[in-house]
Amino acid sequence: MTAENEPLVRQQLTRSYRYLHEHGLTQQASGNISARCGDLILISPSGAAGPHVEPEAFVCTDRNGRAVGGGRPSSELFMHLAIYQAKPESMAVVHTHSSACVALASCRKPIPGFHYLIGSFGGIDIPCADYAVFGSPTLAQNVVGALTNRQACLLANHGAIAWGCSLDTAILFAHRVEILAYQYLLARQAGEPVLLTPAEFEEYRDQARKLHYD
Ligand SMILES: [Zn+2]
Repeated sequence: MTAENEPLVRQQLTRSYRYLHEHGLTQQASGNISARCGDLILISPSGAAGPHVEPEAFVCTDRNGRAVGGGRPSSELFMHLAIYQAKPESMAVVHTHSSACVALASCRKPIPGFHYLIGSFGGIDIPCADYAVFGSPTLAQNVVGALTNRQACLLANHGAIAWGCSLDTAILFAHRVEILAYQYLLARQAGEPVLLTPAEFEEYRDQARKLHYD
């Protein structure tokens, strides 16, 4: 992705931001998304509302978070920048306050390996980053720690965050973590879910590689 692609990246971000809103993953102005664009980052503006966001509203910053051009970036800019720094292969970051994720994050526990798709996030659970106030460097640090070998994590008493090697992948993981969080809540109502073993997750990942499943 190069800076010449900026108009295209703005279009993709707009479409993705609306997708989050249409699927109930963001409410009001709670979510924020970003993508790399050459050496720069394009991120949703502070207070953006999903259905009304326009391509030109996304704010361009350098890797230190200095805005290049107009607009005020999302208050969670630190979190996005920290992920890009920690994961050179990351191309996009998606943060939501999706309801089932918030419900579980308020318990400050990981989503355990109750379903094989938990394995698609890179491990045997989806961790929960320790609480820190929104928009803070401490929260960014906690999130990077929780994302070690993972595509997404919960944020204690806050929400969830996902990243990907493309914007579509980051959106896929942001949506999938919400679906799994909801299903885990249902499973807990039905009884005590049986968790898959580390060996069963290895077997899942072997099968996923073999079948090119993501
Ligand atoms: Zn948030």
